[in-house]
Amino acid sequence: VFNFSAGPSVLPESVLKKAAAEMLDYNGSGQSVMEMSHRSKVYDEIIKSCEASLRRVMNIPDNYKVLFLQGGASSQFAMIPLNLMNKNNKADFVITGQWAKKAYAEAARYGTANVVASSADRTFSYIPKLDPSTFDKDADYFHICMNNTIYGTTFKELPDTGDVPLIADISSCILSESIDVKKFGMLYAGAQKNMGPAGLTVVIIREDLIGNAMEKTPTMFNYKTHADNDSMFNTPPTYAIYIAKLVLDWIENEVGGLEKMKELNEKKAAILYDFLDESALFKGTVEKDSRSMMNVPFVTGDEALDKEFIAEATKRGFVNLKGHRSVGGMRASIYNAMPIEGVEKLVAFMREFEEAHKN
Ligand code: PLP
Repeated sequence: VFNFSAGPSVLPESVLKKAAAEMLDYNGSGQSVMEMSHRSKVYDEIIKSCEASLRRVMNIPDNYKVLFLQGGASSQFAMIPLNLMNKNNKADFVITGQWAKKAYAEAARYGTANVVASSADRTFSYIPKLDPSTFDKDADYFHICMNNTIYGTTFKELPDTGDVPLIADISSCILSESIDVKKFGMLYAGAQKNMGPAGLTVVIIREDLIGNAMEKTPTMFNYKTHADNDSMFNTPPTYAIYIAKLVLDWIENEVGGLEKMKELNEKKAAILYDFLDESALFKGTVEKDSRSMMNVPFVTGDEALDKEFIAEATKRGFVNLKGHRSVGGMRASIYNAMPIEGVEKLVAFMREFEEAHKN
């Protein structure tokens, strides 16, 4: 099947094959990675090489820490204010969908959360234009959700926040193209889309932002705890880190890095968007200049027909195309590991469905 799930989602076949081949005996150790002590020498090599690969692939500067955490991107919604609302107890937010809203609502429990702009007026179908003169220069940070998984929008241009650290949730676009890390105070992502299985949360944070958490911050929610212990304060999600390492190897050695990854992703997205733009039946729900390369929501405009399409598609091996309950219709998530062939075949099937439903 071709799996269009928004997450957890499709992983590269070669990665899963390698993991399967090494399942019972990793590199002659006689153990599965799942069975290893996280403090063993053999596992230490895995976590260290995962971090080194991520640093190479994303070109992460030396003054940033990479933390391998748990609790999902959702835990970051609380960890960020607890650790970073530490000078003026306030932060700016752009509301571009449910995840951005959740990050905002959680931060509002710990300090003043200020909404700079929102696209709620048109069901989050666009990225709002930002006016830097409305940004709070004294904010402790400025938060965006870079790619909005549910609504299929993405920031094409970063807000200029001056000295205020920019923080981005990159859960659904990490590793899809290169990101200039030094423009951010912090980046974070749940791994379960482009990076590996669920259970691993990656935080990339500038060192000077670590170490001033609120007094009440739980030890496990303090970035310093994890930075000081190389993500080994407690048991890290060992197997998920190992798979992430294999995914990074795939990007480096098979794909050829993030520039190549981006080319492939652009090609895939263009196939689908070009079809949506010319189709008489299907319509993309997002304004053109805000379209995501990763998540593509679309509708027929007729709920019963959407349902029929999803059922028919599933029978033909195109699975998990149902849109998020808040948007309805369909959503094709075309993450890194979705082959071009998967998108081409989906479009061919959509054409066929359209032909069969001509009035
Ligand atoms: N942020 C974005 C952009 C997401 O897509 C998701 C999940 O799909 C989350 C946050 C929540 O992530 P988690 O389930 O890892 O807490």
